[in-house]
Amino acid sequence: MNRDWRAELKRVLPHALLDEPLSRHTTFKIGGPADVLIDARSVAEAQTALRLAAAAGRPAFVLGWGSNLLVRDRGVRGLVLRLAGEFERIDFLEGGRVRAGAAVRVPQLVVACAQKGLSGLEPIVGVPGTLGGALAMNAGTRDGEIGPLVLEIEAVDLSEGDVRRLVKDDLRFAYREGPLRGRAALSALLRLKPGDKGDIMAVVSRYQRKRQQTQPIHTYNVGSTFKNPPGRFAAQMIEELGLKGYVVGGARVSPLHANFIENFAGAKAADVLALVDLIRERVRAAIGVELELEMRVVGE
Ligand SMILES: Cc1cc2nc3c(=O)[nH]c(=O)nc-3n(C[C@H](O)[C@H](O)[C@H](O)COP(=O)(O)OP(=O)(O)OC[C@H]3O[C@@H](n4cnc5c(N)ncnc54)[C@H](O)[C@@H]3O)c2cc1C
Repeated sequence: MNRDWRAELKRVLPHALLDEPLSRHTTFKIGGPADVLIDARSVAEAQTALRLAAAAGRPAFVLGWGSNLLVRDRGVRGLVLRLAGEFERIDFLEGGRVRAGAAVRVPQLVVACAQKGLSGLEPIVGVPGTLGGALAMNAGTRDGEIGPLVLEIEAVDLSEGDVRRLVKDDLRFAYREGPLRGRAALSALLRLKPGDKGDIMAVVSRYQRKRQQTQPIHTYNVGSTFKNPPGRFAAQMIEELGLKGYVVGGARVSPLHANFIENFAGAKAADVLALVDLIRERVRAAIGVELELEMRVVGE
């Protein structure tokens, strides 16, 4: 059965990759193989792949830039869908509105908007993922999140392949949680504020510089490991417990930013998960706070 649906998918979409190591597609450089990884370049390709997987009873998962994901060492069963091609477009509309495909990278979108004199996205210029991932995670910083800028999302149901437009009440964003469970965003309509191009670009540059100084952006990591508990900072708690630089296997707590875990020496997902457990136990025991994961863990 497994071989049949994969063979059929490969026949219809020959660029599909079978048993593709996801370590090649995550910023952690960690993760076992996907049964099938498909770059869908159009709605039709996405629907074809999703419906073939669904007909064979296989689950589907949508992957962006892999910048918030820990894929376990035995990989992901079923279909891993990624968007490309027509989902990489940015269209500037009237009234400060921008329609962008879910595969557009966030830094590229922020700079393109700034260059058109459109403001709002500057705080997330350092989020290295795709627009789709940003919508799924309600990506943001202390200075702003993407959620309030979203007017509409076009999304495909991962289990049926049906496309729907999400508006108003469908668009419930919370802290690092978007409105997309069970769906892949295909594109979004954002409303930004017109402003002075030079001023907006200056703000973008300031955010970029700050990040370079405070985050280990040249290492293999997925950004913040844990969400900040209400009124507190996870990084501060981890640092106070002396865990900066703590090593398990090939994974370590970043010496620069205590809420980042780095794959510094061929780490396995198991190393990262063991380090996560250790941090949570120490924080629970010493401070009485239950840390919740911000990075998402998938696979088996
Ligand atoms: C150096 C660094 C700095 C970071 N800084 C920040 C920060 O300041 N703020 C912040 O919020 N995050 C930050 N992150 C984390 C990460 O970049 C964001 O969470 C980002 O939005 C994830 O996007 P992605 O495309 O990489 O998604 P992935 O990691 O590929 O996926 C993450 C989740 O989004 C889902 N997803 C991906 N694409 C879609 C889609 N098209 N439709 C529906 N769901 C989808 C996936 O299924 C998964 O559940 C940082 C990461 C790094 C490595």
